[in-house]
Amino acid sequence: MRVIEEINSEELDDLKNYYPPREADINFKKIANDAVQKFLKEIPLWQEVHVHYGKTSPNALGTHIGETESRPIIVISPKNCLKALKIYRSRGIDLETIISTTIWHELGHSFYEYCAIYNLDVPEDEEKAAENIAWSIYYRGTVPINVKKLLKQIQKEENEIQ
Ligand SMILES: [Zn+2]
Repeated sequence: MRVIEEINSEELDDLKNYYPPREADINFKKIANDAVQKFLKEIPLWQEVHVHYGKTSPNALGTHIGETESRPIIVISPKNCLKALKIYRSRGIDLETIISTTIWHELGHSFYEYCAIYNLDVPEDEEKAAENIAWSIYYRGTVPINVKKLLKQIQKEENEIQ
């Protein structure tokens, strides 16, 4: 399993001006890589995940660029994550949590897209479902039961193909 970083270095350089001193030591890429690895342990569907650091739509912490040649590509906006930190810090949420849950949320979307390949029954509200995946990993260290069931179905389908 590989995590490919395609870094928009301008955006990361910008952060040096943007980081409050307390957050300056946080290693964005390490947190992101750890989060991807954790997700892949739960949902081992891909050999590669691409993580870009760059612009997303205003206020979006991250976004995903679909299923491309069977590897997820996600974009995370360091700037917007830091903006979110200003809001959520008072609720006890730190930057690591914001980055990790953003990654898990976006990979959650990628997972549901993968399910669609096999016409599996996926939740109607994908936005909420992706959010459930993110916070389930955060609070329980694992994905929700319904996600595990879907994963089993995918693995069964793929074993039959081989
Ligand atoms: Zn979403």
